[in-house]
Amino acid sequence: MHAASQDVNEWIDGFLFVANRPILDLLNTKPVLADGPTELLPDVRGLERWLIASGVMTSPRKKAIVQSWRHSTEAASFLKHLIAFRERLREAVLRIESGSSPTDAFLAEVNSLLLRYPLNSSLHKRDGRVIRETHFEPREPSDLWAPIIDATADLLAETESSRIRKCESCVVHFFDTSKKGSRRWCSMNICGNKLKVAAYQKRKRGDNATTN
Ligand SMILES: [Zn+2]
Repeated sequence: MHAASQDVNEWIDGFLFVANRPILDLLNTKPVLADGPTELLPDVRGLERWLIASGVMTSPRKKAIVQSWRHSTEAASFLKHLIAFRERLREAVLRIESGSSPTDAFLAEVNSLLLRYPLNSSLHKRDGRVIRETHFEPREPSDLWAPIIDATADLLAETESSRIRKCESCVVHFFDTSKKGSRRWCSMNICGNKLKVAAYQKRKRGDNATTN
């Protein structure tokens, strides 16, 4: 899975990767850019590019599979459902960020997808440690639910909820992996500097700005 850094590779092939969790990066495929809210997954070709950029489909064989779906109506239908799911997941994440929990209806939806699209895994020894390796062998577009719903379950049940956060200045969500747990912005390049400059200008005007 892709591990995003704060400073390098924030954008890959036109997609933002600042969340430290690919499933949160999926939420961030509808950022607010200069022209307003922008859908970065407008069509199957966009989905294909995101699956490759996010590391879901990385091997040459998997890339070839996803490329073969370019004109597939199943892929178009999957994307439509995925976008709707993304917005329900956004609602669940916003609830978590406000100190609440996802609705029972959303958990029921996730549970039904977990049952229908299990992600197979096996344990291996590596360097004296036991690691869990997942096996994702998609044959049709709807198989993409397996890694997506597995990552959703991981986010909802296995991730420290106080570190799931929305940028203070924009719509981007992220998982804070900083040592202090004090990350406030999607990225220093995108919102951090903008806010620091605004705070500086406010101070220069003689206000008692505390945004720093
Ligand atoms: Zn931001």
